[in-house]
Amino acid sequence: MALAPFAARPANTKGRAIPEPPSPGRSVYQRDRDRVVHSTAFRRLEYKTQVFLNHEGDHFRTRLTHSIEVAQLARRVARMLRVEEDLTEAISLAHDLGHTPFGHAGQDALNHCMKQHGGFEHNLQSLRVVTLLEQRYPAWDGLNLSFETLEGILKHCSIRNARKLGVLGERFIARQQPGLEAQIANLADQVAYTGHDIDDGLRSGLLELDAVLRIPLVAEHWAEVRKQFAQLDERRASLQMLRHLVDTLVRDMVHTTRERLSTHMPASVDEVRRAPPLVGFSPAIEQGLKPLRSLLFKRLYRHPRVVEQMQAAQRVIAELFDAYCAEPAQMPEQHSLRARGVDALQRTVADYIAGMTDRYALREHERLFGPQVAQALTMR
Ligand code: MG
Repeated sequence: MALAPFAARPANTKGRAIPEPPSPGRSVYQRDRDRVVHSTAFRRLEYKTQVFLNHEGDHFRTRLTHSIEVAQLARRVARMLRVEEDLTEAISLAHDLGHTPFGHAGQDALNHCMKQHGGFEHNLQSLRVVTLLEQRYPAWDGLNLSFETLEGILKHCSIRNARKLGVLGERFIARQQPGLEAQIANLADQVAYTGHDIDDGLRSGLLELDAVLRIPLVAEHWAEVRKQFAQLDERRASLQMLRHLVDTLVRDMVHTTRERLSTHMPASVDEVRRAPPLVGFSPAIEQGLKPLRSLLFKRLYRHPRVVEQMQAAQRVIAELFDAYCAEPAQMPEQHSLRARGVDALQRTVADYIAGMTDRYALREHERLFGPQVAQALTMR
């Protein structure tokens, strides 16, 4: 199927920071996708928390499976809207590369540690990973990805940080949007975690089905499933309900985006950039999602058991940070040697900690502080 006029096109890429000859058999965006998949940071996502700590059960989502779900949803939407599927996939697979261990608790803790030293933000960190921290090519640091993939990875950014980022930062200063592929990956992220966090929440027993079914948007789909499969056990019925819900979100996103596209009629990627956000949900779905988000927030992300674990995890991050800052030689040589210049020690330590998997952070904490906290965290 032909690409839409507002789609990114490999032939029109703004290119890579360091020009490279084309690779036979793959487009520039397919090559970006391959580089992301082969990166060390991508493999580490397997052992990083989404909501539940990695050792709490083998069936919960991790950052890796989350990223794969995002990519699969985003590609479906990209096909339906006739935009560049490979670029959408590359952005989706890379979007969480900068996540710390222990999910959002880890990021909050690291941001707190870095308060006086420029802060820490996982989205900006994803960019650091692919432009600097991956060291696997002979002639450059990072993955030397194309401009469009980098633009998509950097979802949001403060104006202060944007000023330091050159061409990549320009759109934040000019208040422009990224291309449609990036906008799709961004919203597909929300669809993916809404669906799978409910699933993981129910599976863990922390979230009660009754509470979820009090949300009108969910109840609607539950009633449909019950009408069709009256005898189905609760587990399968709730999975079927989630399937319906995710499908509704995807269709709504495609429908709403098509409507906005027909209003604004962008004839190129640059016109997409200058238009208001084009990818989105309808007002009805936005409204419907609100109580669901607040339920997930209150009953799952802020569940006492999750909070207790996350507080311990934050302690691990904070204590590791202080320990490495006090004694950089506790870090492997390639990290400790980079620690020169203003704020450079703290930034180097933050990079090192952000790259850790949950279990590696716990092992390091155990090595430096003894087994107490690490054991408490891994006991169920
Ligand atoms: Mg995500």
